[in-house]
Amino acid sequence: MKKFTKITSSIGPNNNGSKEMLAKMIAAGVNVCRLNFSHDTGETQGQKIDFIREVSAETKTPIAVLVDLQGPKHRIGKFETEDKFPIVPGQKFVFDSDPTPGNSSRVQLPDMDVIHSLKVGDRILLNDGKIEMKVEQVNADSIETIVVRGTQIWDRRGFNLPDTEVATSVLTAKDRADLEYALTKNPDYVAISFVQKPEDVVETREFITARTSHPVKIIAKIERPQAVEKIEEIVDVADGIMIARGDLAVEVPFEKVPAISRRIVRLCREHNKPVIMATQMLGSMVDSDFPTRAEISDIATAAYLHVDATMTSEETTMSANPAFVVETMAKILKNADQDSIENAQDWSDVEDLPINDWALSVTLMAELNRADAIVVFASNTNAATWISCRRPDVPVYAVAAQDVVANQLALSRGVYPVCDAAMFDARDVEAVAKHFGLDTGIIVVVDGEKISLRKLG
Ligand code: PEP
Repeated sequence: MKKFTKITSSIGPNNNGSKEMLAKMIAAGVNVCRLNFSHDTGETQGQKIDFIREVSAETKTPIAVLVDLQGPKHRIGKFETEDKFPIVPGQKFVFDSDPTPGNSSRVQLPDMDVIHSLKVGDRILLNDGKIEMKVEQVNADSIETIVVRGTQIWDRRGFNLPDTEVATSVLTAKDRADLEYALTKNPDYVAISFVQKPEDVVETREFITARTSHPVKIIAKIERPQAVEKIEEIVDVADGIMIARGDLAVEVPFEKVPAISRRIVRLCREHNKPVIMATQMLGSMVDSDFPTRAEISDIATAAYLHVDATMTSEETTMSANPAFVVETMAKILKNADQDSIENAQDWSDVEDLPINDWALSVTLMAELNRADAIVVFASNTNAATWISCRRPDVPVYAVAAQDVVANQLALSRGVYPVCDAAMFDARDVEAVAKHFGLDTGIIVVVDGEKISLRKLG
């Protein structure tokens, strides 16, 4: 059995931006390549996209390109020296617009727009939540705070505002420039960071459709409490969701992240949208060649929960051997997927989903007839995605005539896409099955509205 849960891997800045390493990572099990525009931008990312497309074409493996925009991630300015500056709980600390290097009592906040959204009493979290400050006073060009937690502060720490609905656009000037460039490369997915509300997705879609007719899909990254509150409406308007557990575990109490994640996975399935579980899944492998027991368990749990994809972050961008990291993740996923199917070890609450539709009929038809696969002739991503969201126990072989459809389906759990116009036009079920190594067996065939059963061999 192949693995059903897909792998999204972050690409670059180390050797995995090279075509050779990309080929190895894809052979090891990568289905979606994530280009993080928080780091490289422009031509450097464009070159990686070109390599991904080349490897995908050479190996006839549909791969989705996911452009991940930095979003309104705030960082504090620079300090007087590169040292860490001591701070103590109870002291005052000021953020202002003065570019003079900071010290133990003040530092510049380069993006001052944000202060207009802050209220007295709001928390400011720095350095992944290790420092907490409370806003005491908001002035025209500074914020006065009291340190609640933390002992040291230094250059360019990230700045999270869990209590504040930030009034600026979800697309910063940098995001707009990055997206403008990325769209010239026809990405399959664009991920937006620090989404707060459904309108953020709508705004991004308008930006994209004003510039291209390429059917780019939008992934909303859930990492703010404001987004968790409006999660149903966001899932409704987005094409997919990334559970961005890194910032999420800073912005909401970290102990709530597993429950929020489960709820999002379930909602995505109800709304027929793919969902990616992200961050620190194999973090220890940045400098180790063996995963921790907790990481093995986290990846397997995501597979048992029936997410569409798990994700690698620094473990593939910073480690010496990213292909080995992918191989490790694929091995864990494959075993969990197999156990999930063979021993009905399924924690995805599928029975309770309030779904009763044709996609469920396709899945039940496959189960009742002990089918070996479902073949979908995919003129767009809808049918295969819907069927995938019912999580059938058999693979969904999706044949498309357009690259973008096959690439986008690379993200969906249990869907094996192929782009072949001849197979698609001829509705050649045997050729599709053969392509995936199946000569005999029972196939449920989905072609538009038509659902039929076919015996091969
Ligand atoms: C996250 O915070 O989990 C995440 C995926 O976001 P990024 O890596 O883009 O900061």
